[in-house]
Amino acid sequence: MATQVAPELLIVMGAGATPAQTEHVVARLAEVGVSARVSRGREATVIGAIGERDLLASLPLEAYPGVEQVLLIVKPYKLVSRELAADPTVIDVNGRLLGDSHFGLIAGPCTVEYREQTLETARVVAAAGVTMLRGGAYKPRTSPYTFQGLGAAGLEILAEARAETGLPLVTELLDPRDVEAVVDTADVIQIGARNMQNFILLSEAGRSAKPVLLKRGPSASLEELLMAAEYVMKEGNERVILCERGIKTFETTMRYTLDLGAVPVLKQETHLPVIVDPSHAAGRRDLVLPLARAAVAAGADGIIVEVHPRPEEALCDGPQQIPADEFAEFAREVVSVVTLMGKTVG
Ligand code: PEP
Ligand code: MN
Repeated sequence: MATQVAPELLIVMGAGATPAQTEHVVARLAEVGVSARVSRGREATVIGAIGERDLLASLPLEAYPGVEQVLLIVKPYKLVSRELAADPTVIDVNGRLLGDSHFGLIAGPCTVEYREQTLETARVVAAAGVTMLRGGAYKPRTSPYTFQGLGAAGLEILAEARAETGLPLVTELLDPRDVEAVVDTADVIQIGARNMQNFILLSEAGRSAKPVLLKRGPSASLEELLMAAEYVMKEGNERVILCERGIKTFETTMRYTLDLGAVPVLKQETHLPVIVDPSHAAGRRDLVLPLARAAVAAGADGIIVEVHPRPEEALCDGPQQIPADEFAEFAREVVSVVTLMGKTVG
């Protein structure tokens, strides 16, 4: 893999440091194979050291005469880092591509409620040209008194929908005890926002052979999201899709605040594909299309949206689900922006 070089260490020499002391530091760096650039300012001399991260981190430069401060510019994430891959990652899910110029259009019900509801939705989204079907069999609910999902029976319904439509399935893994069942059925394992830092679950998903769709926690920083992805990749699973789905702010008009800036920032920091979930961010269907369009324009590699044949009867997230009979038009609108961005669906 090509490694891009960038200054990793800044060594600030004290005001009274002599040129010889600076040269001594530079010479020591050269001895261990680290190249350095000296910048002599009016106030201070700063040495930028470029080299292998672990080696830089291990040098006791603070102890050198004349050195005032050593700033390590090392990002805590490694495998997800853009510097570690020459090209953006493209994920192939049963022949549907996601990443770089390939846009992923993922849609389906919030929750598998019953067979006909899921099959009906699957047919509609398939006919509208989506690349994957979403649907939760195991649901993370805020209230323990609401519908918790059909579990294994829901996975069977999803498998039937895949058999009929040919669409790969994205479904959530909520509990390490369900790994086998979910990994067997899913084509993409979703790790939900609430579990973004469930490190045991992340490692389990990392040991599976299925791609992982990792949703950002509502109160998680982008660095925390990237570190969560690092957990998956560390186990050997290189197929991780990051998903921005809204964060908690003081704003109350929407369910969450969609952090659109996360899209270009993540794409600068990582080679992994970045998608957006406008449904959970908005919490209301009138905002799903404008947020979806904005996400595509911000450079997202895909979107994941909720669709229901009769949202007013939905057992979960009714207000944000797009009525199935409006989905074809929704998809057309989104695809027109995808085309503008020079990408193709799938
Ligand atoms: C979901 O996609 O079904 C879901 C529960 O989303 P999130 O984890 O982002 O809340
Ligand atoms: Mn939902």
